[in-house]
Amino acid sequence: MKTSPVSNGSGASPSNGSAGEVQDRFKHLYSRGSLVDQPTAIRDICALVARPEIRSLAGGWPDPDVFPIEETAALFAELMAKNGAQVLQYGPTEGLPELRLALAERMAEEGMSGVGPNNIFLTHGSAQGMQLAVQLLVDQGDVIMVGLPTYFGGTGAIMAGGGHPVGVPVDRDGMNTDALAEELERLTSNGERVKGIYVVPNFQNPMGTTLSPERRKRLVELARQYDLIVIEDDPYHDLIFEGEHLPPLKAIDQEDRVIHLRSISKTYAPGLRLGWTVAEPGIIGRMALAKQYMDATTNSPAQFLFLEYLRRGYLDRRIALNIEHYRAKRDFMLDCLERYFPKGVSWSHPRGGFFIFVTLGPDQDAAQLLARAVENKVAFVLGRAFYVDQGGANTFRLSYSQASQEDMEAALKTLGELLS
Ligand code: PMP
Repeated sequence: MKTSPVSNGSGASPSNGSAGEVQDRFKHLYSRGSLVDQPTAIRDICALVARPEIRSLAGGWPDPDVFPIEETAALFAELMAKNGAQVLQYGPTEGLPELRLALAERMAEEGMSGVGPNNIFLTHGSAQGMQLAVQLLVDQGDVIMVGLPTYFGGTGAIMAGGGHPVGVPVDRDGMNTDALAEELERLTSNGERVKGIYVVPNFQNPMGTTLSPERRKRLVELARQYDLIVIEDDPYHDLIFEGEHLPPLKAIDQEDRVIHLRSISKTYAPGLRLGWTVAEPGIIGRMALAKQYMDATTNSPAQFLFLEYLRRGYLDRRIALNIEHYRAKRDFMLDCLERYFPKGVSWSHPRGGFFIFVTLGPDQDAAQLLARAVENKVAFVLGRAFYVDQGGANTFRLSYSQASQEDMEAALKTLGELLS
């Protein structure tokens, strides 16, 4: 059985060494933002997946089997021999100029016309882009619209920044833009300060669904109508298993209202902590100013590595390999679900990414299932961790990214038996 590292199921893990309670001896001195708690469901899962005997479908980390370890070691040795002094030096806050140029060209090829190096900003993971975007937009109590469900790293960043995430249902075509329009009308008529919309358009975490072309257009149109910024969080973009890429919101938007967040975490290596933001230069300037006080610049070795990776065509080759790898894992999980899960239980059929979302009957409780699953050494993430309105009691998220076929099959067979 493959052992899982401690993971909150999303890509980040608490670094206090244990998944237990944090001792808040100086709580009276802490800011409100720092006291935003992780939902209990996430803390519970951290504790769970740390146990080696558990067959976990909870962790959303990439599969280390596809990490290009030797290739990266050789490339790094080469970079150090040729250019070690620069590779180990601080760099510009916005990122290496050559890398900004290469990424601008790539983004333009994806349809973001007019994007140049001044629209590109390198960050430590897309997570840092999210944090800086929140810092840019949110004053205490400002509203950001989010999906029900959506990635808890996104809503967590909004809450830690003092913002108020308000949920809009997500279905198989992504965020419901009719419901979004209604909520925006209601909130603005009530005098709420709505600043933006946070959306994961492709192979969403946790549902695996993709925002439809019509809804993409409508969402951008609503942002214009209500004078909002859109935070387009797109870390799974390249992991597309079938069909064509849909146009990014950033490509549809004619008013530069979209902050597009990208990452190498799912295509190259998450440990390099590299992501990039595509946005209007004024937004980039403000985010870069905030980053200057935060960590000054993004890891130079990671940027040099990634630049070479791109230049040599390794990234595109790696993306193709990863697509094959994760598509086979998705297919295997879908087959197991078909085989072992009873009637009355439904699940999403993602066209990419890492996640399948399961919905039980309306009266069934996923938390009860999890308790029994854990007794049987199986873990998953409760859907309610992804609902800012505490909904989703009858849902849960499965990840096929890390588990071996053997673990996946055994775990899903057990869950199927518990559900029957
Ligand atoms: N957004 C979403 C939707 C994610 O699922 C994750 C992590 N799994 C992130 C952002 C963070 O990614 P990164 O490693 O680029 O910070």
